Amino acid sequence: MRLLDILFTRRCPFCEKVIALNENECGKCRLSLPKPGNRELCGTLCAYSFPYSGAYRTAILNYKFKNQHYLAQTLSYYMLSSLKAIDTKALDVVTYVPAYMDKKHKFNHSRLLAECIAKRLSLPCRQLLIKTVKTEKQHNLSRKQRTENVKNVFKAAEKLNGSRVLLVDDIITTGCTMTECINALKFGGADSVYGVALCSSL
Ligand SMILES: [Zn+2]
Repeated sequence: MRLLDILFTRRCPFCEKVIALNENECGKCRLSLPKPGNRELCGTLCAYSFPYSGAYRTAILNYKFKNQHYLAQTLSYYMLSSLKAIDTKALDVVTYVPAYMDKKHKFNHSRLLAECIAKRLSLPCRQLLIKTVKTEKQHNLSRKQRTENVKNVFKAAEKLNGSRVLLVDDIITTGCTMTECINALKFGGADSVYGVALCSSL
């Protein structure tokens, strides 16, 4: 996509049709937007906006792998709309699934989404978790391998002293990563944890 196109044209994240600057998606895609859903992972409510399939899968993959970072604003809007079952006024802080950062991997997609959500909720966004080892990419592994791959690799970055935390990830598939992060936050002293993701495998 050309720079001028990115700066002055807004496109529907699902079909890439040009839309008005004050719209999130085109009229056709708006009519078929699915209802947000919830998943329970180790007793924690995790909200999500879309199934991880079709145009919704394409949108998140464009955001993640085609450097379409400007989509974070729009995508976080959908994530916020999926939080209806969660009392957002009772939250203290927004955090995100941390990435293992090195010279090659400097960008955390979940962090950018978390920052947009925190801003909309007028809450601080802080890194409360640390990823202690570099793991294999989850999508290359079987379900059993995924569970083992992320086991005990996250820990709380600080004492959480009864904080009520909203944990943001981009995609939930098996839920192994989210579950490990929820456990690490609770082990670190969080009073309650809620999860939110843009897409979830059903
Ligand atoms: Zn569209």
